[in-house]
Amino acid sequence: AKDNGRDQYRFYSPELGSTVARRVELERDLRAAVGSTEFALFYQPKMRRDGSIAGFEALIRWNRPGVGMVAPDNFIPLAEQLGLLLHLGRWVIEQACRQIAAWRDAGLGTIPIAVNLSTSQLTSAALPDYVFDLMREHRIEAGCLEMELTESMMMSDPDLAIAILHRLRGGGVALSIDDFGTGFSSMSYLRQLPVNYLKLDRSFVQNCAVDPKDADLCAGIMALAHKLDMHVVAEGVETAEQHRTLTDCDCDLFQGFLFSRPMSARAATEFLQSRH
Ligand code: C2E
Ligand code: CA
Ligand code: CA
Ligand code: CA
Repeated sequence: AKDNGRDQYRFYSPELGSTVARRVELERDLRAAVGSTEFALFYQPKMRRDGSIAGFEALIRWNRPGVGMVAPDNFIPLAEQLGLLLHLGRWVIEQACRQIAAWRDAGLGTIPIAVNLSTSQLTSAALPDYVFDLMREHRIEAGCLEMELTESMMMSDPDLAIAILHRLRGGGVALSIDDFGTGFSSMSYLRQLPVNYLKLDRSFVQNCAVDPKDADLCAGIMALAHKLDMHVVAEGVETAEQHRTLTDCDCDLFQGFLFSRPMSARAATEFLQSRH
C-alpha cells in the first residue's frame, strides 16, 4: 500500500525478494515436472500381527533437477494450488497399478498398494471411471488397489465425496481414513463412509507407549473400528514398545520406520522377495 512505507520497504528487501524468486522457480519447475520422468513412487510396507507383509503405501517423491529428492510436503500443497494434482494423482494411481501387475507377473502374488488421494480428486466425479479403466487395463483384482484420504479432504463437498467413495468401494477399491484422530473426526461421517481401514495418526502412536491414557484411547479407537467392521493401521511405529502396546490394544496392521522406511520400487521388490 502507498501509505505504508514500511510494507513497501519490506516488499523490496532482498531477503523477501529471494523468497519470491524461489517460489517462482519452484512453481516453474513443478509445472515442467508434471508429465516428465522426475517423479517416483516409494513404497512403505504395512505389516500384519504375525509379521507378514499386508501391502504397501505408495509415497511420491520428486527428483528435482539440481536439487535432489523433494519430499511431498514440500510440493503437494503447491501442486494442488496450481491445479496440477489431478493429473499427477492420476499418474500415481497408474503407477501403483503397474507395480501391482509387475509383482503379480513376477510371481510374488497379489500385493495391495495404497495411494494417497487429494482434495481435487475427491471433488472430481470422473475419478471412479478412470480408476476402473486403469484397474481393467492392468487386471487389478478387487481389494488390491487401496486409497487413503483424510476427512478434511471431504469437507469442500461432502455429498460428492461420499458418492465418489461409494462408487470406488463398489468397484473393488479398498478405502482408508488417513491421519485418523487429528482434526475434527466426526463420528456421524464415519458411519456413512464405506471405509475398510482407519489409519491411527502418528501422534497417538508416539504417545501410546508413554501415557497409559493414550493407550486407553488407542484401545477404544480399535474397539470402535472393529465394531464398525473396520481394521486399524498404526502409522509411524518407530519403537518396539509402541509396537507392543499397539498389539495389546488389538491393532491389526503396523507401518513405520521400525519395519522399514519408504523404499524405491526395486528395494521394495527385494524386501518382498526376501520374505516370499
Ligand atoms: P501420510 O499419508 O500421512 O504419509 C505418512 C508419512 O509419514 C510419510 O511421509 C512417511 O514417509 C512418514 N513415515 C512413515 N513411517 C514413519 C515413522 O516411523 N516415523 C516418521 N517420523 N515418519 C514416518 P512422506 O512420504 O514425506 O509423505 C508426507 C505426506 O505427503 C503424506 O502423509 C501424504 O499426505 C502426502 N503424500 C505422499 N504421497 C502422496 C501422493 O502420491 N499424493 C498425494 N496427494 N499426497 C501424497
Ligand atoms: Ca497416507
Ligand atoms: Ca497418515
Ligand atoms: Ca499425514
